[in-house]
Amino acid sequence: MILPIIAYGDPVLKKMGEEISQEYAGLNDLIDNMFDTMYNAHGVGLAAPQIGKSIRLFIIDADPFSEDEPELEGFKEVFINPKITSEEGEEWLFNEGCLSIPEVREDVSRKSKIQVEYYDRDFIKQTKTFEGLAARVIQHEYDHVEGVLFTDLLSPFRRKLISKRLENIRLGKISPEYRMKYYKVRRGR
Ligand code: ZN
Repeated sequence: MILPIIAYGDPVLKKMGEEISQEYAGLNDLIDNMFDTMYNAHGVGLAAPQIGKSIRLFIIDADPFSEDEPELEGFKEVFINPKITSEEGEEWLFNEGCLSIPEVREDVSRKSKIQVEYYDRDFIKQTKTFEGLAARVIQHEYDHVEGVLFTDLLSPFRRKLISKRLENIRLGKISPEYRMKYYKVRRGR
């Protein structure tokens, strides 16, 4: 089932997600619905806050990147209660976008290598190291469950340049190709 994607401006996107247990009600359906929602919007990652649930869960299918980045072939994973335990390597820029912030893309600087602990879909604990674009996609989705958006990582100057476009997203004055849910509260009220 395709769910509406929460648009920039909703407070749920700024909240720290809570850990969940294997008994979390409807978890399997939720994960299936998140994959349906992500594929429908042509995304490579989706975090639970983006469908309105403030929990520590995100999904990735980076296979569409594998034409340019062969090591991403088949990189499809569910991350439950993730924790990035180390970030190292050179900072590098990549032009990021986000399904909650349609049509805004900005260069974001992140470290190149991470180690992450998480539970997979079968609730088996995993500890893995990722580099390059795989690490990048995880870092972006991980930020979502920490209540952080990529626009929070931009310089004040870049943020100012895109502030009008962000406000239009908040107010629903956009026409994305997938269904979104808007918060529609004017700043300052
Ligand atoms: Zn995002």
